[in-house]
Amino acid sequence: MSAARQGLYVFPLWPRSKIPALHGKRHCDGTGVCTEGHLGWEQRATTDPDLIRYWWNASPSSNVGIACGPSNLYVLDLDPDHGQDPPPEWAGARHGRDVLARLAEQAGQPYPHDTYTVRTPSPSVHPYFTVGQDSLLRNTAGRAGWRIDSRGRGGYIVAAGSMRRDGTYTVARRAPIAPLPQWLVPLFTPPPRPQPEPVVFGDVRPLSDTRRQRYLDTVADTVIHAAPHTAHDTLVRAAYTLGRLVGGGEFTDDQARSTLHIAAQHRRIPTHEANTAISDGLDAGSRSPRQLADRAA
Ligand SMILES: [Zn+2]
Repeated sequence: MSAARQGLYVFPLWPRSKIPALHGKRHCDGTGVCTEGHLGWEQRATTDPDLIRYWWNASPSSNVGIACGPSNLYVLDLDPDHGQDPPPEWAGARHGRDVLARLAEQAGQPYPHDTYTVRTPSPSVHPYFTVGQDSLLRNTAGRAGWRIDSRGRGGYIVAAGSMRRDGTYTVARRAPIAPLPQWLVPLFTPPPRPQPEPVVFGDVRPLSDTRRQRYLDTVADTVIHAAPHTAHDTLVRAAYTLGRLVGGGEFTDDQARSTLHIAAQHRRIPTHEANTAISDGLDAGSRSPRQLADRAA
């Protein structure tokens, strides 16, 4: 109830367990709340006191899960070493906390300790942070550094007061939940995929159709004149470059595709291979739309 009063969306976990006590998709019989389709814990997690009372009256020893996504929450999971030595780049660290302290130092930022924090029996440390409704940060495992995991959209954490065979989740720091420091965001952001280097063709905006065509010819030329064995990669990069411009409305998808296919034929890249490379590159590029800059004044 106290989590829900803070706007955190909760749901029951099995007693002394981290496993959701709501039925999973495989065991869904399509009745009750699932009449219109199965609802998982992330959809069913609630701040409604009546539903919370109903759930925990039915099973008073249920543990408490907090769904991070609907709660606009991002929680770090700083783990102990579990008796293992860290990899060389984190030599000397004994806990995810040590690694986070070094990351803070590298970023020239203070250690983000001033926020609501829970200690698990492991003992891991879970500092809680708020994120915007449009945050796309999801769960990570070791991406930011050794023994640092995180839970965001699509993830949940076990709330304070929950119990395990080996102990209780306790509040380690009773403070308001602080916003996720900006410097931490890139550490938990997935790399773009795929990530070919965009080919840069200068900053000229081809205002006339002639200049647009010249631009397409230049892109085609990079493929046609690519060094031996690099034609395929160059084709993907060229497709990515054009995909961005298609996304930005500079060219049509047809213009981009036919340019790339003609170039691929020059290099005798098999059609099915070219199709895949071109489609993948265009798709990836269209996710980062860009427009051609006007010639610098
Ligand atoms: Zn269901």
